[in-house]
Amino acid sequence: GSFVTLKDVCKSYRMGEVTIHAANGISFEIEKGEFAVIVGPSGAGKTTVLNMLGGMDTCDSGQIVVDGEDIAAYSRKQLIAYRRYDIGFVFQFYNLVQNLTARENVELAAQICKNPMYAEEMLREVGLGERMQNFPAQLSGGEQQRVAIARALAKRPKLLLCDEPTGALDYNTGKTILKLLQDTCRSLGMTVIVITHNLAIAPMADRIIKVKNSRVEEIKRNENPVPVE
Ligand code: ADP
Ligand code: ADP
Repeated sequence: GSFVTLKDVCKSYRMGEVTIHAANGISFEIEKGEFAVIVGPSGAGKTTVLNMLGGMDTCDSGQIVVDGEDIAAYSRKQLIAYRRYDIGFVFQFYNLVQNLTARENVELAAQICKNPMYAEEMLREVGLGERMQNFPAQLSGGEQQRVAIARALAKRPKLLLCDEPTGALDYNTGKTILKLLQDTCRSLGMTVIVITHNLAIAPMADRIIKVKNSRVEEIKRNENPVPVE
């Protein structure tokens, strides 16, 4: 069975007289351990879908099932616990705490979770064993994103959600970050969803969900994902 299922998910935003249908009957499924990308032009509804999947926003109608639980039916309190324990987030601009070291950033996330991995172990896993005592400002963009990935994975989330993780990085650094996400998640058996408008990411994904005008335009299962080289 699938690990993530969206069924007829609708979400609109009302702005005065105008109603914007940001998600207009979105349906897709993702299997456990898959590396899935949601692609589409700016304004297509990608962030809206990711926010609902992460429990940061609620849908108006439809089902959002993650690991057998319909999170669309969750109370506010359940959603807080879901965001804290079940979901790992990686953002475009890293969102690290500037006055904490790399290690402290990862420890902070690990501490608030029930099942934390060791911060040091995760930082070594992402190739930052030598830089644990550095502050974010002393690290390059790619290194800061590695810290953010270590921080997200230290929670042992059920699902890792990445919003334009390479959006602030140059092409080559972006590729190494994608390879890291791909390798680490394969080895941990983690289910990953990446949203991006960068079509170059698509060949490495197990599943490609194309979104356009608040609808799913196409879903492709990639039997032979091309590793990032
Ligand atoms: P994408 O991530 O693909 O760029 P979004 O999900 O951010 O697309 O946006 C989809 C549509 O919903 C856009 O028209 C956007 O302007 C609108 N939208 C998103 N969030 C809000 C909001 N909080 N309030 C009003 N409109 C929003
Ligand atoms: P990139 O080529 O990825 O943009 P930079 O040129 O910014 O990286 O940095 C190259 C190396 O120097 C990185 O390993 C980074 O961590 C290190 N570095 C950059 N700024 C500082 C600093 N203020 N203190 C310590 N190390 C730094």
